[in-house]
Parts: sequence; structure tokens; C-alpha cells
Amino acid sequence: MTNSKPNAIHYSSNLERICALDSHHVWHPYSSFTPPVAPLPVARAEGVEIHLEDGRSLIDGMASWWCAIHGYNHPVLNKALADQSQRMSHVMFGGLTHEPAVTLAKKLVDITPEPLSKVFLADSGSIAVEVALKMAIQYWASLGKPEKCRSATVRNGYHGDTFAAMSVCDPVNGMHELFSGVLPKVHFLPAPNPGFQEPIVAAEITAIEELFARHHNEISAFIIEPVVQGAGGMRIYNPQYLQGLRKLCDEYNILLIFDEIATGFGRTGKLFAANHAGVTPDILTLGKTISGGYMSLAATLTSDRVSEGISQGVAPVLMHGPTFMGNPLACNVAIASINLLLDGPWQARVKSIESTLSEELLALTTLPEVADVRCLGAIGVIEMKHPVDMIKAQSAFTELGVWLRPFGRLIYCMPPYIISDSQLRQVITAMKATVAALK
Ligand SMILES: *Cc1c(COP(=O)(O)O)cnc(C)c1O
Repeated sequence: MTNSKPNAIHYSSNLERICALDSHHVWHPYSSFTPPVAPLPVARAEGVEIHLEDGRSLIDGMASWWCAIHGYNHPVLNKALADQSQRMSHVMFGGLTHEPAVTLAKKLVDITPEPLSKVFLADSGSIAVEVALKMAIQYWASLGKPEKCRSATVRNGYHGDTFAAMSVCDPVNGMHELFSGVLPKVHFLPAPNPGFQEPIVAAEITAIEELFARHHNEISAFIIEPVVQGAGGMRIYNPQYLQGLRKLCDEYNILLIFDEIATGFGRTGKLFAANHAGVTPDILTLGKTISGGYMSLAATLTSDRVSEGISQGVAPVLMHGPTFMGNPLACNVAIASINLLLDGPWQARVKSIESTLSEELLALTTLPEVADVRCLGAIGVIEMKHPVDMIKAQSAFTELGVWLRPFGRLIYCMPPYIISDSQLRQVITAMKATVAALK
């Protein structure tokens, strides 16, 4: 008992107290209590730096999982949050609406490709994906085709941790194998061949066509992360794949869902990864970066065709409504973050990060322990031939004053767009040093 409730313990410092209580009581992502994960306590964060409770500072190469594109503690975003908190932090969204929600929705419609015009403001990325998959199923049910209720996707995807989202994650490395018995069955195609510039091969498109020809009667939607597959392997593929996919989805009456939760808002060098292909999905999910890393917020956009289908159908309403949907604090900071992005030189910044990453990292391809190096926009990935010991690598990075969190065989960075050249070079130096040490 003493072990699980260490109330009477005297701590010699606040740092020690945080660490002890964390290890006894707090779940972290994909973590265990035996042994506990021993995360680093953060006191505050500013710009591109994370300041630890123990006095050290780290340059953030992760942007807190793609999110903090403008850096931390930004005065404009702080103000948006503070201003909104003076008006209202939240009101229920059933039967009520507010300016932050409608302004954000209009902005999202304006900056995404036509004909996306309807916005569902969800409270996290996984929920935005659930809503997208539900929209597709409801759409076909409304049109008298309830049998079109299965999803299709490619391997190596990552779409979140809730049940429907898990079902479309990579069935092997998607971290959800344990649940395969209860997950809906999904059609999987091989992941698109790697290489942004690599010409796509006819067999890839033929595989899509064969699947659709055989199963279109039961497929509601095809979901995919356009151009960059994130947490399922940090793979980058030719945007032309998406053009072939769009054409076949149209031919076989399958809705196309782009999950841009990781790639949206400039990360790949275009405002949205779909812009590389000039292709518009029927449903689009956004998240992560949407609020500049400040609040949990996500969005699912769709077209009039889908929304009208649902609204005229069997339900006839979209069957979803989280308690915190359209949260005004999150919406207001998202509006400020998007304005900050669009009013600033984000393209030049992302381009310059891309050049530095390519210039410095691509040369590592020749090292015997390196399987592949790939860079696109503000994303730099080194794929090793063997799994990287995350804990060891992470402490090596920390020693070098950098925050990076490798997974599997991947050492990668996706820094805030405001990172300076010298800060970026420090991140790169740490990546190179760690690769050399892993020999
Ligand atoms: C992170 C991510 C999600 C899940 O978002 P959460 O906010 O973690 O629920 C879904 N899709 C993609 C592509 C992501 O990168």
C-alpha cells in the first residue's frame, strides 16, 4: 500500500516531488508503470525552447508532435486565449453558437479547396477521424446503400487511438494489434511506394482498381494521409498517387477522406499536402497544428453533396456531438494561429528548413547503418536499419540540448517553423551525433 500512496513522504525538492508523483499516478502516452517512464518535468516553454524544472533548456525539434508551429508562449496566441477567457471559456454547442466558431469555420472553408464547405469542430484528431468515417457511412445509408459501410485504406497509416480510427491504422505497426478482435474489418492496400519524386508504378493504381472493382458495394470511404504518412512510419510518397486514387474513387462511388491532421497548415511546404496533388477529398480532417499547439481542437470538413446527403437521409442528422465541440477558447486561438501563419513568411521559412535538412541529412544515406533519409518541408527523417533505443537516444539528445523523440527505426524532426538557422543546426548536429553513436 505504501508504494501506491506515498502521502507521508517528504520530498527534498519540488522536482523530486513531481517525479515521484508522476511515476506513481500519471499515465503518459503508450506508457507503463512497471517500469515507470520517468519523463522530464517541464517548467515552462518559450519560443523554440523547452525549459526543464532542473534548470536545463532544450531546443524543440518536435514542435510538440507537429503542433507548435509558432513556438511556445507566443504573445499573439496568448492574447487570443486571454481575451476569449474574459468573454466565455465554453458554452454548450447544442442550440447555441458563437463568433469564434463561425469565424474559424469560415476561415477553414476559405483556405481549403472547394467544394469543402461544411465544418464539424471536434475536440481531438481521433474524434475528427471518427466523425469523418461516420459521415461516409451515414451518407451512403441515406442514399439507400447501408451495405456501403466498410472503410478502405493503405498500410503504414496512422489515424488515432479511438476504435474506428484504430481500425484504419497499420494493422501490424499501428500499435493496436491487441484490439484486432474487436475492430471493424477494413480493406488494406499496400502503402504507396516511397519517394516524393519516385514515379508511381502502374501496379499501385491497378491494386486500387482491383480492390474497388471487387468490393465497391461495401466500401464507404477510402482514408489516407496525403503525401506524408506520419506516426505509421514517416513515409513520403508521390502526390500523383492521390490523383489516381481520386479518379478511381469517383469511378467506383467511394468517398475519399484525406487525414491532414499531421500535414495541414504548411508542414509539407504547401498549405495542405493535398495541394501538392491538386486533388480535393470529399472529407478532410485537420487537427494538431490547427490551434498552434495551444488547445485540443480538430475539424472535419466536407462538401455540400455529403452534408445534403446526410441531412436528407435516414437519421437525418449527423450522429455526433462531443460536450466540448466548438470550444471558444480553442477556436479563438486557432483563428489567431491561422492568421499568424498566413500573414507571415511561412513558405520561405518552411523552404529554408527543408533546404537545411536536405543539405545536412541526405548525405547520411551512405552510412552503413542508415536505411534511408527523407526530407520534405519542415520534416527530416533518418530511417536506421535497426530499432533505435528510444530512452538511450532521448537522453543522448537531451545531453546535447535538444528535444527529439525517436520511434521504431526512425530518428526525425519536425521543428516549429520559427526555428532559427543556428537552432536548427543544433538539432541536426544532435541527430548526426546520435546516428554516429548508434553504429
Ligand atoms: C495525431 C494524428 C491523429 C490523432 O489525433 P489526436 O489528436 O492524437 O487524437 C490522427 N491522424 C493523424 C494523421 C495524426 O497525425
